[in-house]
Amino acid sequence: MLSLEMKSGTSPEPIQGNVGGTDPGPRNIELDRQNPDVLTPPRTDHGTLPNLKFSFGMAHNRLQGAGWARQVTMRELPAATTLAGVNMRLNPGGIRELHWHKQAEWAYMLYGRARISAVDQDGRNFLDDVGVDDIWNFPAGVPHSIQGLEEGCEFLLVFDDGSFSEDATFLITDWFAHTPKEVLAKNFGVSESDFADLPADIDRTRYIFQGEVPPPLSSDTVSNSYGQRSFSYHLSTQPPLKTSGGNVRIVDSTTFPAASTIAAGLVKIEPGGMREMHWHPNAEEWQYYIEGSARMGVFASEGNARTFNYQAGDVGTVPFAFGHYIENIGNTPLCFLEIFRSPHFQDVSLNQWMALTPPELVQAHLNLNKTVIGALRKEKWPVIGDLNRRS
Ligand code: MN
Ligand code: MN
Repeated sequence: MLSLEMKSGTSPEPIQGNVGGTDPGPRNIELDRQNPDVLTPPRTDHGTLPNLKFSFGMAHNRLQGAGWARQVTMRELPAATTLAGVNMRLNPGGIRELHWHKQAEWAYMLYGRARISAVDQDGRNFLDDVGVDDIWNFPAGVPHSIQGLEEGCEFLLVFDDGSFSEDATFLITDWFAHTPKEVLAKNFGVSESDFADLPADIDRTRYIFQGEVPPPLSSDTVSNSYGQRSFSYHLSTQPPLKTSGGNVRIVDSTTFPAASTIAAGLVKIEPGGMREMHWHPNAEEWQYYIEGSARMGVFASEGNARTFNYQAGDVGTVPFAFGHYIENIGNTPLCFLEIFRSPHFQDVSLNQWMALTPPELVQAHLNLNKTVIGALRKEKWPVIGDLNRRS
């Protein structure tokens, strides 16, 4: 193996038996440590695949007075064409200003608490407080806002278009700044002088700005004869599907109707466990790693396969229909989101496929012995434990 010792370039070890060589440097030892299966790939890797990893830690950060935002889109990760992600922090009271966009916005709360608001095309309004593990989904074009509560918040936003840009949303301040005051006066039935105090900053917009932490939800709600509509989902109330190596919670339009274009699974894997070998028959996969250390092997057909490593804050992607597995290679739980541009979460299990096919037919392909055939499972286990691991 190539040495991952901190003394770069001093290790004499060869790599993987009779292939490879030492690495006299220069080298970026921190990246080498984070990507052991890129530095010394499994011997089963072969051929060329697109890059399937990009980290939010390498994404430009847009720093604002009351928080920050950074994005991983098709520009950063060209293989991910269907979804784009934004990682955002709002300080206590910090407001992501009233806005809308052409894409649907799905979100997962990573830290703290936030108050979110929206009004739909039928005049139904929405106001809710969300915390860690909660999800929201604003359909394309529906205007909304986000505000950090007492401890502020951090969250992941996912948009159903790989070319989305967080810098190109429709801001309420931007429209006011680019509309003649006499038109504003006519629109709202007041006089032009009533708009004397519109934002006068450089670009006359807010984007993320400091506000006061709002009062309790009950006293902040706007009464409405058109009724209310819910855009949030409290994932923590959903009992997970537990298997030997971890658990999965799935949220799509079946359980959360507002998420009509984006489906997701929150996967937790114990040390040594693995998201089983599978593929998705309906969509490309977009991943966000929340904690732990992973390696993902991706099978691309035509003899091609590559292996990638991921840590907290990294984004992964799997092209449509490519086979893959995700292993927890650390000593702590691995947690990540797998997200799809689809109303429904769908996956095909290699194990279940083989178990539900005539055994003689399966056996004829792979020369498998009776132990392997007998171990096949007819029920799907998305996450499996490591039976060979000594605990
Ligand atoms: Mn938005
Ligand atoms: Mn998958």
